[in-house]
Amino acid sequence: MIDSSTRLYGLVGHPVAGSRSPWVHNFIFETFDIPAVYLSFNVESDKLQDAVNGFKAVGTKGFNVTIPYKTDIIPMLDRVDGTAMQLGAVNTVVYQDGDFIGYNTDGDGLIKVLERRLGPISNQRVLVLGAGGAARGICGSLMAGKAKAIGIWNRTEQKAHQLKLELETRDANECKVAVISAPALFSEYDLVINSTSVGMEPDIHESPIDVRFLSPQAVVCDIVYKPHQTQLLRDAALGGHDVIYGIEMLIEQGLLAQKLWNGLSDDALEPVRNALIREFEMLHK
Ligand code: NAP
Repeated sequence: MIDSSTRLYGLVGHPVAGSRSPWVHNFIFETFDIPAVYLSFNVESDKLQDAVNGFKAVGTKGFNVTIPYKTDIIPMLDRVDGTAMQLGAVNTVVYQDGDFIGYNTDGDGLIKVLERRLGPISNQRVLVLGAGGAARGICGSLMAGKAKAIGIWNRTEQKAHQLKLELETRDANECKVAVISAPALFSEYDLVINSTSVGMEPDIHESPIDVRFLSPQAVVCDIVYKPHQTQLLRDAALGGHDVIYGIEMLIEQGLLAQKLWNGLSDDALEPVRNALIREFEMLHK
């Protein structure tokens, strides 16, 4: 029941219609009897600072940030966690002792999904499609997880070179980073992650790559979750590849946000993750 003690959480972005984050967080609040509600706010860019001020004024306990504000929000916060600052992107904001503190749970959320399915990421050579905000977070977490190698393929190759440079200056571990300019090189990778927006509604018949260039054993993951079954995943499954759906990352990054907001433990969240995946699959049968 919503009453005067109900706490407010939310999502800011533009557009936000169709985001699944309210479904994830309101499900968690209900499951744990947390007196809170999560709403989406479609905010124009010149009103982002007003929205942040308003959230603080009304005592919001936390909010998520999505396209296109993950970077723009940074100077509007009181503090930003080291990883989010390195990535230059915040997707989760926590209210603590009068301050708004920014975090990034995108990359770590995906790594959790991948490690649950494939074992330690340190054994993997990973091809990342895209060099935008999501790719940046994912590559940062892949490096932190000591992936064996990362190949970056992007429509605008210059941006892939820029991301490679950023990764190499940030982290001097043994992960080999390369810019991939020809599909013939796709076959060198064990895992492919689509972090471009290609295939997202309404362009549901588009795929970022031709899966025939992949190694036959490669696992294919798409972080696009609208639609659930993207053209890339459909092609990959038809080609005999194991596939990982974007909704799993959305759920996992949401669970990490809930750990920050409400101190929920991994053990407590485990059945919720499974229930959310089951419900999503039933809705998309
Ligand atoms: P972004 O910063 O705008 O980056 C978009 C990327 O897609 C860029 O690499 C861009 O390449 C590429 N791209 C766009 N249109 C293309 C086209 N027609 N052909 C080839 N490449 C194209 O967006 P983002 O924040 O990284 O998000 C990317 C996608 O990930 C979105 O669909 C978003 O919904 C999804 N996402 C999912 C989750 C989840 O939890 N599942 C979390 C975060 C994001 P150029 O550099 O050449 O423009």
